[in-house]
Amino acid sequence: MSELLEVNHVSYAYHSIDGETETLADISFHIKEGEFAAIVGPSGCGKSTLLSLICGLLKPEKGENPARWQKHRRRKKKRIGYMLQKDYLFEWRSIYSNVMLGLEIQKKKSEKYTKRVDQMLKDYGLWDFRDVRPSQLSGGMRQRAALIRTLALQPELLLLDEPFSALDYQTRLSVCEDIYRIIK
Ligand code: ADP
Ligand code: MG
Repeated sequence: MSELLEVNHVSYAYHSIDGETETLADISFHIKEGEFAAIVGPSGCGKSTLLSLICGLLKPEKGENPARWQKHRRRKKKRIGYMLQKDYLFEWRSIYSNVMLGLEIQKKKSEKYTKRVDQMLKDYGLWDFRDVRPSQLSGGMRQRAALIRTLALQPELLLLDEPFSALDYQTRLSVCEDIYRIIK
């Protein structure tokens, strides 16, 4: 299997008027296609910062920019899906237009992509709720909608930043099972 992501000697610090918070120091690891990796550590250790560096929202102070990974492999730009801790569904849009948001922005509302979104909504129990607003869904349903929105663009690299931590224990167990099946 070939390397999908290379993080080489990456360091990052946040700066403010009061000083500097060194967050990541000399981080290196490689991920191959098809691999599943978990980043584990206590709150505040830099997990979210690392994911933001990988998808290019932040740029490292030292080391190679991991978001430029596609360049190293001389292939066309790869798609990254990034699912955050909060679902960030927009209340002024229906569930359907929330899950279509990425496709809309990237001008990819073709049949190929929308068919897959429709199927995911059906498979994961949200089809009958496609016209309602996010506030009319339970926490678990909202997380599933956020995941479908992330998967709609068919990312080659999927970054999940504690996407279920806002859910209560029981809901988390059932959503985790759903998500496991979706990702598989
Ligand atoms: P984790 O996701 O592992 O909980 P974060 O990557 O969010 O950790 O944060 C790592 C460290 O960087 C923490 O000490 C946090 O206080 C600091 N930090 C995170 N975001 C900012 C920011 N925007 N400005 C300043 N410091 C930040
Ligand atoms: Mg975090």
